[in-house]
Amino acid sequence: MGRIIGHEKALKRLERAVEQARLAHAYLFAGPDGLGKKLVALRFACMLNCPDRTEDEDWSCPVCRRIGEGKHPDVTLDEPERGMIRIERIREMHRFFKYAPIEGAYRVAIIDDAHLMNRQAQNALLKTLEEPPSNRALILVTAKPARLLPTVRSRCQRISFQPLPLEPLAEFLVERLNIPTEKAQSLAALGNGSVGRALEIHGRNYAELKDLMMDLLLQPGKEGIRALLESAIRISSDREAALDAIEIGATIIRDMIFHKMELDESDFIHRDSLDRISLGAQHQGYEELLAVYEELSRASELIESEINVNRNLVVDVMLLKAVRALAGPGMGAVQEARRGTR
Ligand SMILES: [Zn+2]
Repeated sequence: MGRIIGHEKALKRLERAVEQARLAHAYLFAGPDGLGKKLVALRFACMLNCPDRTEDEDWSCPVCRRIGEGKHPDVTLDEPERGMIRIERIREMHRFFKYAPIEGAYRVAIIDDAHLMNRQAQNALLKTLEEPPSNRALILVTAKPARLLPTVRSRCQRISFQPLPLEPLAEFLVERLNIPTEKAQSLAALGNGSVGRALEIHGRNYAELKDLMMDLLLQPGKEGIRALLESAIRISSDREAALDAIEIGATIIRDMIFHKMELDESDFIHRDSLDRISLGAQHQGYEELLAVYEELSRASELIESEINVNRNLVVDVMLLKAVRALAGPGMGAVQEARRGTR
């Protein structure tokens, strides 16, 4: 089981509710992905069911560990299967709630990615929410609360989760991944304050993608058109990698703009590459940089929103436009190739 990083306020609020025995029947844990909402939900199940109330950071208490591992008879965790939570699972949950707790004090059902309940499932869930039995707690965990029916949302007590402050997140990443502080700081910023996201980016050839984007954007046109198109193939081979590469690119451009604005070093994301960024920014004007930034955002939106988009083509055009804007009109071959892709 993982360690909970941050979320002291949410934990305190839940703890107090348990101590004062003022519990809601249903909770909505809402906030961006990768913050540890599910982990907090499991910890809440521990607060409700573990006789030993002391904080247990490493899940060493046997009762809590069984809750965390899904082996406690009074706690269930539902997750979507093939992108959906179907009505059958909600019916199972009704049955689970029908019986009193066996071992602990509360029966707790956690539904992760609750927005993936289809409409039937949500309507079935309303039944539980309308006639909540006592000593039961339902926790809906979601990054997209707006996709839940208003009638479902309004029956839950909402606990909001915010992105983590970057410093504690970076400290955690240094410890967990054994990486230098500067790299951890840039990962924390790239992950927008989400532990899960930062770990994901790290796991996905982050260093390789970053080198590639640095070369493309800081020394535009140096490698020639063939190398550029080869890079496009590498970047677009996988949807998540493409989105990562574009995000890394956007943060490099952002740092270049910040450099031109003479902002403080602490505002930079790629603090480990300041020399290269300042060198690359010297030859660029604001307008070019903003145009590239927009181009990157547009490409990422396309890839994110459209299922059948030709990723390779989107990345090709994006890189060609970016390099042309940054390398200037002298990049004739690139200009020609760009016309060709239209
Ligand atoms: Zn315990």
